[in-house]
Amino acid sequence: MEDSQKPDLMDKIVSLCKRRGFVFQSSEIYGGLRSAYDYGPMGAELKRNLMSEWWRFMVHSREDVVGIDASIIMRPEVWQSSGHLANFSDPLVDCKVCGERFRADKAPRKAEGEDAPITLGDKGRAKAAQEKLTEAGVKLQRDGTTLNGAKAGAAGYVCPNCGSPFLSDERRFNLMFRTSLGPVDPIGDVVDIVRKAMAEGADDKALRAKVEGALAASSVYLRPETAQAMFVQFLNVQQSLSLKVPFGIAQMGKSFRNEVTAEHFIFRSCEFEQMECEYFVPPGEGPKYLDYWMNERMKWWRSIGIKVDNLRFRKHDDDELAHYSDGCYDVEYKFPWGWDELEGIASRTDFDLKAHAAGSGKKLTYFDPEAVDPETGKPGRHYVPHVVEPAAGATRGVLAALCDAYDEEPADAEGKGARTVLRLHPRLSPIKVGVLPLVKKDGMPEVARKVVEAFFGAGVNAKYDEQHAIGRRYARHDEVGTPYCLTVDTQTLQDETVTIRYRDDRRQERIKIADAVDTVRKALTETT
Ligand code: ATP
Repeated sequence: MEDSQKPDLMDKIVSLCKRRGFVFQSSEIYGGLRSAYDYGPMGAELKRNLMSEWWRFMVHSREDVVGIDASIIMRPEVWQSSGHLANFSDPLVDCKVCGERFRADKAPRKAEGEDAPITLGDKGRAKAAQEKLTEAGVKLQRDGTTLNGAKAGAAGYVCPNCGSPFLSDERRFNLMFRTSLGPVDPIGDVVDIVRKAMAEGADDKALRAKVEGALAASSVYLRPETAQAMFVQFLNVQQSLSLKVPFGIAQMGKSFRNEVTAEHFIFRSCEFEQMECEYFVPPGEGPKYLDYWMNERMKWWRSIGIKVDNLRFRKHDDDELAHYSDGCYDVEYKFPWGWDELEGIASRTDFDLKAHAAGSGKKLTYFDPEAVDPETGKPGRHYVPHVVEPAAGATRGVLAALCDAYDEEPADAEGKGARTVLRLHPRLSPIKVGVLPLVKKDGMPEVARKVVEAFFGAGVNAKYDEQHAIGRRYARHDEVGTPYCLTVDTQTLQDETVTIRYRDDRRQERIKIADAVDTVRKALTETT
C-alpha cells in the first residue's frame, strides 16, 4: 500500500478487526473500557502465533536462552529495588483551556519564536473553549497572557487536543496498578487512621503520609514489565540448570501500566503483552552483545514478514538513557501515524542484579572457574553479570503485523475483483487452511469434513466453511489472511482432487486430497 493511502489506514484496520473478529473493545455492551481490548477468535490466534514465533526464535532455536513463566504479582520490595516505585512515572499535565490530561513528554512542541495570537483546535472541547473565550473578548496571545493561573507557553509545549499553551505544572504519576493481597480491608484501616490522626490535629501533609503508609503496608502491584522476575530468579535459574554466562532468561506475558494517554488502538493500552529476554554477559561485554541482539531482533521482525522498509533502529540520545545504561536502541515500525517503538534493546550494565542484591541482601553473583580474576591474577572469578535486554511488545507486534499485511486491490476493467487482503506471514495467519465445499449437497460437505479432520490430525489449524457463495467465502478468508483455501467440487467426487487457491495471487490449481496436508505443511515450512 502506498504511503498516500495511509491516513485512514488505522480506521480501516480498526473496522476490519471488529468485523472479522480480531479485536473488540473491552466491555463494549457497557459502553467500553478506555484502553482495554479483547482479542476475538482471529486476534487470539494471531497474537498466539506471533508469541509462539518469538518463543521459537528466542528459546527453542538456541542453546543459550531458557524460558520462565513467573507470577504477575511479586513482593513489593521487587519494585522498590528496581526503582519502579520511586521512578516509574510519567509527567502529567492538565490543559487549562479544554481540560485534556496528557503526557508532557509526548506533547507537541511549540514552534520556536512563535508568538502570534493562538487559535485553538476546531474539535469538541477545544472548539467550545475557543467560542467561550471569543465571546468574553479574550484574545489568546502566546506571550503575556495568563489563563486560570497558567502563563502561556511556559512549558515549551502545547496541548495535543486543542493546541493551547495554557497548561498546569507537571505532576509525576506512577504507572503501576496498586492492589492489595490477602484478606485485608485497606479502606477500613484508612478510616481508622484518618479518624485518629484528625483527633490528634494532624495537618494535611501528616495525614497524607499516614494514609500512604497504611496503604503501602498491604499493597502489591501488577507487574508493569515482565523483566524483573528474570533478575529476581537469576540464581535459581542459573543454578538449577548449571548455566554458563553468557546465557539468557526469556519470558512473555501480561504487563499492566496505568497509562496517562492510551493511544492508537492496541498500540498503547493499560493491559498488554510483552516478550522480554535478559541476557547475562561478563562485565564489559554489554556493548558487544547489544550489537549482537540488535541484529538478531531485526532478523526476527523480518522473519515474521514485516517489510524491511517499515523497520528501523533509533538510537537513544544521551539525555534519554537511564543513568546506568551504556547504550539503547529502539526497533521502530512505520505505523500509519509515523515511526514508533516496537521494541527496546538496552545494555543495562550490572544495575539490576546489584539493585536486587542490595534490596534482598542475597549475593547475586556468578562464578566462572575458567576466567582469571583481574585483581588477583588467579584462575576463578566471581562477578555480577551485566545484562543486555531485548524487550518487545507482543500486542504492538500484532498491530504492526496487521498494518503491514493490510492491502486493498482495485477492481479490474470490468469492475470485478476488488478485495481487501491481509497478506500475513502464513505462520502468523489465524487460519492456515479454509476447507470449502462448493455447495452444501451431493456429498461435498462430507468429503470436506474429512479433509478438515486430516488437518486436525496433523496439528494444522483448518476451518470448515460452507456459509454463502464461494466468492464471498474466498473474500472472507482473504480478509483474515488465510493463505490457502481448498475447495471440494464435483470433480472431487470423481477423482479425489481439490482446488487449492493461494491468497496472495488468487492462483488456483488442483491437487490430490491425499497430498493436501503435506502440500500445506510444506508451504508453511518453506515460509519459515
Ligand atoms: P513507550 O515509550 O512507548 O511508553 P517504553 O519505552 O516505556 O514504551 P518499555 O518499558 O521499553 O516501553 O517496554 C518494552 C516494550 O513493551 C515496548 O517497546 C512496547 O512494545 C511494549 N509496551 C510498553 N508499554 C506498552 C503499552 N502501554 N501498551 C502496549 N505495549 C507496550
